[in-house]
Amino acid sequence: MKNMPNELAPCGVFCGACPSFNNTCLGCTSDSKEQERTSKWGCKIRNCCYNIEERNFCIDCSQFPCKKYRKKLLYTHQGDPKFRYRHEIPEIFEKMKEIGIHNYLKFQKQRWSCPHCGGTVHFYHYKCSKCRKEVRV
Ligand SMILES: [Zn+2]
Repeated sequence: MKNMPNELAPCGVFCGACPSFNNTCLGCTSDSKEQERTSKWGCKIRNCCYNIEERNFCIDCSQFPCKKYRKKLLYTHQGDPKFRYRHEIPEIFEKMKEIGIHNYLKFQKQRWSCPHCGGTVHFYHYKCSKCRKEVRV
């Protein structure tokens, strides 16, 4: 499964809604050296999901959500609404199994689109990147 959409991180975070996406970063899926943000290459979750042969999503793993996952994503910034996009993953990620990667990507793009102008809504801020309106995702 090498050709995964750049918007979908293996952990279930929607890279397409990250302020760095297509800015300093091409998404967790990308191995391109042409991007500034390279910290992802040291990510324990990414390294667990990706090896030369295979690229997987955490949701397909029998240990999901495993200890490293809980430590890095679910138990960090608990109660902080800016990090809701992390804490909601287990619930939302299940959808990928039901509807498939392609439809899941569509669903996420839709979710993170501004209802006012169609711009991308970014996590952390929960604001549209174009019209700057606050959006409840
Ligand atoms: Zn907007």
